[in-house]
Amino acid sequence: MSYSAEKLSEEKVFKDPVHRYVHVRDRVIWDLIGTKEFQRLRRIRQLGTTFLTFHGAEHSRFNHSLGVYEIVRRIIDDVFAGRPEWNADDRLLTLCAALLHDLGHGPFSHSFEKVFELDHEDFTRAIILGKTNVNHVLSRVGRDFPQKVADIIAKTSEKKLIVSMISSQIDADRMDYLQRDAYYTGVSYGQFDMERILRVMRPREDQVVIKKSGMHAVEDYIMSRYQMYWQVYFHPVSRSAEVLLSKILHRAKQLFKENYRFKHEPHHFTSFFYEQVTLADYLKLDESVILYYFQIWQEEDDPILSDLCSRFVNRNLFKYVEFDPAKEYKKLTQLTALFMKAGIDPEYYLVVDSSSDLPYDFYRPGEEEERLPINLLMQNGELRELSRESEIVEAISGKRRTDHKLYYPADFLADESSIGERELKKQIRSLLE
Ligand code: CA
Repeated sequence: MSYSAEKLSEEKVFKDPVHRYVHVRDRVIWDLIGTKEFQRLRRIRQLGTTFLTFHGAEHSRFNHSLGVYEIVRRIIDDVFAGRPEWNADDRLLTLCAALLHDLGHGPFSHSFEKVFELDHEDFTRAIILGKTNVNHVLSRVGRDFPQKVADIIAKTSEKKLIVSMISSQIDADRMDYLQRDAYYTGVSYGQFDMERILRVMRPREDQVVIKKSGMHAVEDYIMSRYQMYWQVYFHPVSRSAEVLLSKILHRAKQLFKENYRFKHEPHHFTSFFYEQVTLADYLKLDESVILYYFQIWQEEDDPILSDLCSRFVNRNLFKYVEFDPAKEYKKLTQLTALFMKAGIDPEYYLVVDSSSDLPYDFYRPGEEEERLPINLLMQNGELRELSRESEIVEAISGKRRTDHKLYYPADFLADESSIGERELKKQIRSLLE
């Protein structure tokens, strides 16, 4: 029997709080889960710093990746199998792409990628195509199989239907993370009737479409995504921790460039600081390594690095106020000058952070970011774009909402140990209140 068709003698199941069970019968999938590159995802949290706001949010990218795999498996095996529009030969390719879609995520990806100018998608591709255990497993299926999997994840594959199952405005990735993140944070948003959505999904040549009768379940899904973004993903307290994290990395990089003598050499970061990251170095970093450095950097002589690390480790976060960059730039200039006068480096201690999201968008040809719309399959066989049928979705379509906050260390400003500082800090506080 060919490796790609090989089944395990007994089905393996993973207990999962969201999907109850994740089922594995295919030898290839089982072997991929066992690779060290996939196991590494256990050491990377799905929601980065969110656990400092919602203490339950300790779940990992490993959990999420299995969940996306399970949703895609159910779509294929329970809904698409036997339909003329579905090519059964694509089953394994689709499952592998679903399982591996987040493989290149690094520790606290959001800040980490910004500071070091990296992109996890490049690393996903590099792990799948490079000299790794994952590549070894995929290559046993076929010589060009790793490339096919990488192309689905990069959305460059001609197999548009499969791409849409893993990344589109209604895909297995979003359906898993919304429910999973809701479960682990404990919020009541993020829940929707996935069973119903799976049942009304239909394969078309270039995308998954939804039977009209399932429209209300899709509305619910879009609203829950909208709520999750503003209640969980963009929570100002998690963003405060994110600000600290990126400032720590900035500071460490800066010190390294200035030939600062670290008490504990940052070996794991050296190639990142030199901007010459190899795949091997990248794979060695996970959140436990990062947190180890934050722990020991508390003892560094550099007061900024040690203060920022101790804030992160002990969750002494920056406070925030609403900020409108269009109207308040003058105030920011004023504050920057006052911070400098007070001896608080504004580069690390006065930070504007912006978050923005587009809840759902329809297709506008020629626009930079063309988004594949969600199409409803009408009874007469026609397709209609969702926002033309649903008033609720229409109301939030194409509307980008942005939120800006100004972060600062309130405890520093409250400290008036020297008399000279009193007036200065009072002035700063009055600008921030
Ligand atoms: Ca994902």
